[in-house]
Amino acid sequence: MSIAQQTDRADRLVALLPKAGVDLLLVADLVNLRYLAGFVGTNGLAVIGPSTRVFATDFRYTTQAAEQVDPGFERRELPRNILSAIPELLPDGELRLGFEATQLPYSIYSSLAEQLPQRVELVPAEGLVERMRAVKDAGEVERVREASVLADAALGRLLAGGLAGRTERDAALELEITMRKLGAERPSFETIVAAGPQGALPHATSRDVEIGKGELVVIDWGAQLDGYCSDCTRTIATGEPGELARRVYAIVLDAQLAGLRAVRAGAGRRAVDAAAREVIEAAGYGERFGHGLGHGVGLAIHEDPRLTATAEGELEAGNAVTIEPGIYLPGQFGVRIEDLVVVADDGCEILTSLPKELTVIE
Ligand code: ZN
Ligand code: ZN
Repeated sequence: MSIAQQTDRADRLVALLPKAGVDLLLVADLVNLRYLAGFVGTNGLAVIGPSTRVFATDFRYTTQAAEQVDPGFERRELPRNILSAIPELLPDGELRLGFEATQLPYSIYSSLAEQLPQRVELVPAEGLVERMRAVKDAGEVERVREASVLADAALGRLLAGGLAGRTERDAALELEITMRKLGAERPSFETIVAAGPQGALPHATSRDVEIGKGELVVIDWGAQLDGYCSDCTRTIATGEPGELARRVYAIVLDAQLAGLRAVRAGAGRRAVDAAAREVIEAAGYGERFGHGLGHGVGLAIHEDPRLTATAEGELEAGNAVTIEPGIYLPGQFGVRIEDLVVVADDGCEILTSLPKELTVIE
């Protein structure tokens, strides 16, 4: 991330403030802070306005902040409870101070409201930075692409060693270790390896249970590289899984391909969800696909835009979204196929190069 990009981001944020009805924005969400100021740590905040760019952190991060934070920000070191010092970071005069309404805990909001002078009005502002983050620039797309390539390679190594006979936890751990050995900072979320009936839980945990033969195994994993996440799911068979499993797999694959075909700049988010959902509904499994089709991915594993049956708005070029339909049959098995794609004017770029036909391994 270049400094120039961050300065540009802060400028673009300032341009959005009048429409949001605020003079300044208090940014305390760590992902937003990384996006706007370059800071990677666990405690910091920024106040951003037309003539205000203040970044504050505590003693533990002062040296690091000097290296990371865009020099366009005035840097301040504050006591560890940095939110208590916000009043001293603000310019003079009457102010409408926006805060991240979906991120700021109520306890902090209320103590802040008590401390602020009368001249400062706290105003909830929602999604300003999140909407900026949803549209990736070329450098961000490149980072997500690299994270995806790394995650693909890690899965290849896992599958080469086979799945049957080892526990779900062991397989998940190997995948995570391999991603880190290949250079990932960390997995972008807790890896899911879920065999047989466990795969029918969309957000399954990996158990200390041995993976059997002839089972479908849902593997959902991602790497975080340079802050940017990847996200992918493949459902693998450990030997012939049987006719029902093959039929359900084929329906999910059809739905996934239909979803991918619907992706392009200007496509309704709800319409993209519907393109995949209709395939599953037509096959009689609509009730067994109980989650949205996809979500944005970037510095956070789940971010804007969302692709759901109730989503508003359209996709934009530069969105990075997952397309991940699934069918979950309780007590039997689950199938989910997920690709991460970058939206373009005429379609999308799929960032994973892993095959999608049912892979049968030992
Ligand atoms: Zn996933
Ligand atoms: Zn996902």
